[in-house]
Amino acid sequence: MTLPLVRSCATVDHERLVADHSAHNYAPLPVVITRGEGAWVTDVEGRRYLDLLAGYSALNFGHSNPRLLAAAHAQLDRVTLTSRAFGHDQLGPFCAELAALVGKDMVLPMNTGAEAVESGIKVARRWGYEVKGVAPDRARIVVAAGNFHGRTTTVVSFSTDPEARGGFGPFTPGFDVVPYGDLAALEAAIGPDTVAVLLEPVQGEAGVVVPPPGYLAGVRALCTDVLFVADEVQSGLGRTGHVLACEADGVVPDVVLLGKALGGGVVPVSAVVADRDVLGVLRPGQHGSTFGGNPLACAVGREVVRLVPEVLPRTRRLGEVLHARLRAMPGLTAVRGRGLWAGVDVHPEIGTGREVSERLARAGVLTKDTHGPTLRLAPPLVISEADLHTALDALERALNP
Ligand SMILES: *Cc1c(COP(=O)(O)O)cnc(C)c1O
Repeated sequence: MTLPLVRSCATVDHERLVADHSAHNYAPLPVVITRGEGAWVTDVEGRRYLDLLAGYSALNFGHSNPRLLAAAHAQLDRVTLTSRAFGHDQLGPFCAELAALVGKDMVLPMNTGAEAVESGIKVARRWGYEVKGVAPDRARIVVAAGNFHGRTTTVVSFSTDPEARGGFGPFTPGFDVVPYGDLAALEAAIGPDTVAVLLEPVQGEAGVVVPPPGYLAGVRALCTDVLFVADEVQSGLGRTGHVLACEADGVVPDVVLLGKALGGGVVPVSAVVADRDVLGVLRPGQHGSTFGGNPLACAVGREVVRLVPEVLPRTRRLGEVLHARLRAMPGLTAVRGRGLWAGVDVHPEIGTGREVSERLARAGVLTKDTHGPTLRLAPPLVISEADLHTALDALERALNP
């Protein structure tokens, strides 16, 4: 039995407004946050919590990161939006700097992760028709079961989660789903009309599922005349202790999709990153976005690009601390992950993931369950070692109530 958090009028009033006027597409914990700094947030009651979700990794550099706020403030005072009808002085540097970070030639800036995925699908299809020579409207893309690539109608068309798909058809055709981690199934699914394999190098929403050793290298080897599109929206930009999660396996995808942390938790910024022979298939008028690549987004994104390399060593070191403690923690039936990113399964006798996350919230640590027994732990990469231990102490107590 989980008792509710102590709630005053301020919290109850906020929750009533949300219940009455915000669509019920989320079931949040009963916490109403009013400010954040680093790895900490404060609720309307004045209680402080350690944030172990970090905006699903959009907040890799912490809340109110002073360098990201300075970049945003400086740009807010100059110009925030030009539309792509005109040029502006942040777009070129942002694209060049992000391309260099990822090791590619070109960037297609968009806003949300789902848009990066949609754009990646369009680029792959067009590449298939123009470069590979697939017959019109025949292009197919192979994806993995258990995937999460966003919420648009095309993207949920190839979700295997009944909750994400149910009642939203008809769906976009052209996708083949294979089990994640199964190279033989992937090889069998790649046919003459296949233009791309679209995968998360670590499946975040599925519960931080790391594929078997050698899988990503095997995917790379199978993608000879097919684009390997890595959705690094959640796994990229430092979370695993690398710029890209694929790097840990020495694998270089053809197309990299980025989002979440690219906007530093300040603005939505996403991108498709690839070489000229791939992204060059788009010509004026064929794709676009009113807000994609706007000056504010680019200014924040440029500071993110500077921050990523700086946080990698500490992410690897604290990631080892996190995983060593989790592996030794009683009450968990599985521990997965890379870097400062873990999915843990709670023993059913202890409670559901939701119950443990509610106990943790009462103890001043915020995280969220995903799929029944699973909790996801993804603190801001700037969390101090002492705060990480504080959060893990609370988890240990929540598993032993
Ligand atoms: C969150 C996520 C997305 C979708 O990003 P949105 O900004 O919510 O549209 C896509 N792919 C992966 C791997 C994600 O984790």
